Amino acid sequence: MCDKCDDTRAHHPAIAAERRQFLLAGAGLAAAPLVAALTTAAKAQQPVTPTGPFSVRAYGVSAVKMLFAPMQIQRRAVGPKDVLIDVHYCGICHSDIHAIRGDWGSTTFPRVPGHEIIGRVAGVGNAVTKFRVGDIAGVGCMVSSCGECENCRADREQNCLKETTFTYDAPDRVSGGVTYGGYSERLVVTEHFAIRIPPGANLAATAPLLCAGVTTFSPMQHWRLAPGQRVGVIGLGGLGHMAVKLAVTRRADVTVFTTTPGKIADAQRLGAREAVLSSDEGAMSRLANRFDLLISTVPYTFRMQPFMNLLKLDGTLVNVGLLLGIDGTSLSGMQMGFGRKSLAGSMIGGIAETQEVIDYCAARNITADIELIRPDQIDKAVERVVNKDVRYRFVIDFTTGRQG
Ligand SMILES: [Zn+2]
Ligand SMILES: [Zn+2]
Repeated sequence: MCDKCDDTRAHHPAIAAERRQFLLAGAGLAAAPLVAALTTAAKAQQPVTPTGPFSVRAYGVSAVKMLFAPMQIQRRAVGPKDVLIDVHYCGICHSDIHAIRGDWGSTTFPRVPGHEIIGRVAGVGNAVTKFRVGDIAGVGCMVSSCGECENCRADREQNCLKETTFTYDAPDRVSGGVTYGGYSERLVVTEHFAIRIPPGANLAATAPLLCAGVTTFSPMQHWRLAPGQRVGVIGLGGLGHMAVKLAVTRRADVTVFTTTPGKIADAQRLGAREAVLSSDEGAMSRLANRFDLLISTVPYTFRMQPFMNLLKLDGTLVNVGLLLGIDGTSLSGMQMGFGRKSLAGSMIGGIAETQEVIDYCAARNITADIELIRPDQIDKAVERVVNKDVRYRFVIDFTTGRQG
């Protein structure tokens, strides 16, 4: 960023000259990775970006159900299309907890979760066009895909037919190893999978938009949630509270369904017209046949039929929270057929859609409600998430006590 005018764009003459110098420096190196980098502090001309695999401090678990501990992990060299990000903040998503507890069956350890990542670009490959050193970048749930299949070509990288590479615990297409997430001090990612964060954003409170935000935004887009339509949000946690905020800005009529009496008032504060305990059978029957769309953010298996009863003709219940087995035992085929109701799934959103929700929220000053923690508090935070004791997202602050 220019220290005279705060202009972050490349057209600024001084910045453009600086950038040309580094592109030229990168062009002088024959072999990949070709890297040009600049420290904002020194503004020296020697590249500081690692040109080979390098070690970074991370927080992960070394075996299933172990506690978090500091560890060193390897990041790949910064390639021509890669950006190096100094991680400033990373949200704690419930998926992280499923991952460290082995709920998804993977046996790869150590495991470093985290896919709501925001930080400052510390280095760029010489073919990078989307970012400059000093920019703020975000990384969500994906770091690669094939880029060629029909879903990738339609900006649906999360639905890649040749396997999306998720941000952690996935085979790394580039290094051949395993991906490690954002509970770490530095990260290397292909520029396509990094999201531009608008200047002035509250970085810590914006981080959760990269998973919780896009995960709830995407079904509202796909099912075209319109002003005045009735939408129900099932579960008021990290995803649920974003669903409420986003639906309210679309001027939808929002009802929250929760199992926690203490969250009723919160739901109304967030803009819901009504909040209902899902155990309240009277309220559940009063609200039958009313909803155009239900978005379930609940991360555990639960009986869905009581919620299917709430849908009006042609309504859809979209599951975004549960990646484990869906409870089919309570679902009535006759009832679904009688109301021509749909049960659908949706998982995060594409890169373009992730950029869209970040820009949408920045323009409307929408952020997550967060509680900031230190890296040594991750275990306690995980325990509180499991106990539904978070309002509404823990975000790890890596900006203090960094080890470089
Ligand atoms: Zn997530
Ligand atoms: Zn693909």
